[in-house]
Amino acid sequence: MTTQKRNDPFIRNEKEAHLVKTAAELAERFAARAPLHDREGSFPFENIQDLKDSGYVKLTVPREYGGEEISLYEMLLMQEQLGRGDGSTALSIGWHMGLMLHYRTTRSWPEELFRSFCREVVEKGTLLNHFSTERSSGSPSRGGTPQTTAVKTEGGWLLSGRKTFSTLSPVLDTFLVSASIVERNEIGSFLVRSSDRIHIDETWDTLGMRSTGSHDVVLDQAFVPDEALISSYPVGQKPQAPSDASAWLLHIPACYLGIAHAARDFAVSFAKSYHPASLPTPIADLPTVQQQIGLLESELLVARHLMYAIADRWDKDPSGRLQLIPELGLVKYVATNHAISIVDKAMRVVGGASLSRSLPLERMYRDVRAGLHNPPMDENVIRNLAMRALAEMD
Ligand SMILES: Cc1cc2nc3c(=O)[nH]c(=O)nc-3n(C[C@H](O)[C@H](O)[C@H](O)COP(=O)(O)OP(=O)(O)OC[C@H]3O[C@@H](n4cnc5c(N)ncnc54)[C@H](O)[C@@H]3O)c2cc1C
Repeated sequence: MTTQKRNDPFIRNEKEAHLVKTAAELAERFAARAPLHDREGSFPFENIQDLKDSGYVKLTVPREYGGEEISLYEMLLMQEQLGRGDGSTALSIGWHMGLMLHYRTTRSWPEELFRSFCREVVEKGTLLNHFSTERSSGSPSRGGTPQTTAVKTEGGWLLSGRKTFSTLSPVLDTFLVSASIVERNEIGSFLVRSSDRIHIDETWDTLGMRSTGSHDVVLDQAFVPDEALISSYPVGQKPQAPSDASAWLLHIPACYLGIAHAARDFAVSFAKSYHPASLPTPIADLPTVQQQIGLLESELLVARHLMYAIADRWDKDPSGRLQLIPELGLVKYVATNHAISIVDKAMRVVGGASLSRSLPLERMYRDVRAGLHNPPMDENVIRNLAMRALAEMD
């Protein structure tokens, strides 16, 4: 399967063409490994190593600390390419890429800590993710109080609890954990390093995105020093919207559009080459097949135009970023729902063969489903749009 599209209208210059080519070459390798990892639910360690070896993991790190400081738009171009090869790997590395862009933009870590962490990323390929979801408090985007606790001790904190959906956990030595600071009635974000008080419970056995290693991470009085408390806010209050409007989360729509794009490519190639005995020409000449292809193409184009237009606005107008929060949610809402529909239509084009585990479509069908359960959740996006519309008429 080819993962690189010729003449992509969203590639605007030589630099972007080069970045996309780099990502497409990686994606090609990941696509070949994806079926087995999906079948076994295994973690693609070799893909992560390839990403480190190629320098991919430092691309969103600030230039002053040794990175390439690529823009949001450029990151999305690359993440979408990875998604065309393997959704699980794209989503997994997307958390790291996005978080580095987020902290580069907001500078919400103590600067010295951020500088030394960036150096680790650049020199050792250290990766980052945040573990905020828990079984009883659900999606952090809904504002539940973490059951994981942070208790003050001499020189630091003791963290205890269980985090679910901990993507990348098989390769992370460093991660962010949300925890309740009971004595201060606050919720804090802590930078945690692996230790013998932390273990991975290999619970991840899911319908889709099976190779993301999103296991449970269990902390049992894990010590972190005082300076590991990166930020906190009072229980019952919404944390202040970060100055970047959390645009880094667009790595999520980029991933699912990449999967949908690959499904579209597969279906179109199939339609052009499948020539059943009952027809004089390949099925691509059938009006019914053309209809499905046209419909899925329209969904892909709408979602890509929206994503890249908003990313471009975000890149170019730092002062207008907070006003983009409803649109940033809309990008994710449109991309993930369109991705589900696109893969469905691609399978209708291919017909019964699309159900076979020897073809990639059935994996893509399962993978895109996971997009509904990544943030922001559909109902929050819709509510944000409604609230803005209602406020405009005050
Ligand atoms: C592939 C994948 C990778 C992920 N990786 C990570 C990761 O690396 N780090 C991380 O922290 N998380 C991660 N997540 C978790 C994700 O961000 C969500 O927290 C998780 O999917 C649970 O969301 P939920 O909406 O189903 O949970 P819940 O909040 O428990 O909601 C369950 C259902 O209850 C209803 N509901 C619950 N509360 C409310 C409410 N207040 N208002 C309205 N409806 C409500 C909704 O109908 C919802 O569908 C990942 C998820 C997936 C699928």
